[in-house]
Amino acid sequence: MLQNYARYPLVVESASGCYVFDLAGKRYLDMISGIGVNALGYGHPRIAAALAEQAARCVHTSNLVYHRYQGALAERLCAMSGLDRAFFSNSGGEAMECALKAVRSHGRSLNPRKIRLVALENSFHGRSFGALAVTGHPQYRRLFEPLHPEVTFVAPNDEDGLARAVDEETAGIVLEPVLGEGGIYPLEDSFLVRARELADRHQALLVVDEAQCGLGRTGRPFAFQWSGIRPDLVVAAKPLAAGLPLGATLFTEQAAQSIPVGMHGTTCGGGPLACRVALEFLAVMEELLPHIREVGSVLRAGLESLAARHPVIAGIRSKGLMFGIQLSVPGHPILLRALERGLWLNCTHDTVLRMLPPFILTREQAEEAIEILDQALADLN
Ligand code: PMP
Repeated sequence: MLQNYARYPLVVESASGCYVFDLAGKRYLDMISGIGVNALGYGHPRIAAALAEQAARCVHTSNLVYHRYQGALAERLCAMSGLDRAFFSNSGGEAMECALKAVRSHGRSLNPRKIRLVALENSFHGRSFGALAVTGHPQYRRLFEPLHPEVTFVAPNDEDGLARAVDEETAGIVLEPVLGEGGIYPLEDSFLVRARELADRHQALLVVDEAQCGLGRTGRPFAFQWSGIRPDLVVAAKPLAAGLPLGATLFTEQAAQSIPVGMHGTTCGGGPLACRVALEFLAVMEELLPHIREVGSVLRAGLESLAARHPVIAGIRSKGLMFGIQLSVPGHPILLRALERGLWLNCTHDTVLRMLPPFILTREQAEEAIEILDQALADLN
């Protein structure tokens, strides 16, 4: 194995609903859901049925031909997002690459110097060279530079900074409506609106990366929908095929024109198995939207009550079922104590505990998570 991952001391042997089980049969409440991928938990009957049936029928076709589910999924995602066209790939990073290629091609078609990008400090867009270039964490980029040289980073929610950074050489503005890896920082609606205005004024494309915050996570199909804007490009991934690799790049008709026939592609992306499961995922997710908002408020209230009792909690940031618990101390020791007590969450940066629970989390399970976290925090003293 490459030594790139720092893993937690947990071997997952099996899983069911919102719980995973280790080799000894010990149970853990999963509040990170494979970093937002297992949004319907484990063994969801509708996902399992779609998987089994399609696995026996046809898993892969390549994109040399048509199959029944890709167009249907594109249509569904476009209807949900208000965009016009879809391209399917295998990951968030790959979906981002496609968006960045569309932006480059769009800019160059207007002016050869119009290739600059504006992105956010503390953002995360993936590990490939293009996605890394717009990722606002210098430590992820450093070893691999030089990357795309034309990126200006702006602080999240700094509208004036954004206005200063965008000019006639800007081809695209890249945003995460809720910065996920960065520690769960929701962007203000007014910031998204301003980004839309600036992109329009300078003929730049607005790219919204919803790999983590999209597809129901915030209580709406897409997080940008809280602000009322319509982006030119939307990246979706993680939970889209309920654990099978699938990424989607959504385009307005105008943005789509920058990728002519033959200028982009992928072998496995958008196969019949992944697309069929994704259609089932979207149907279940839409039914769960009111539940996501409700259980999100229960968790938020529980975390606020913890913050009132544990001074190491400096603040809670959340939107729907995305939570960042800002600590004044390193989070890893707390995470390990929670794990011992049967609660699995994650630490992003040193001092932020992150929770991305499954959408099917019940009120009782939300309370169970708060109780265990309470004990894990008390263990510190
Ligand atoms: N964009 C965002 C906002 C992400 O959170 C991630 C992954 N954490 C990615 C892109 C990259 O996705 P993947 O790991 O599927 O390439």
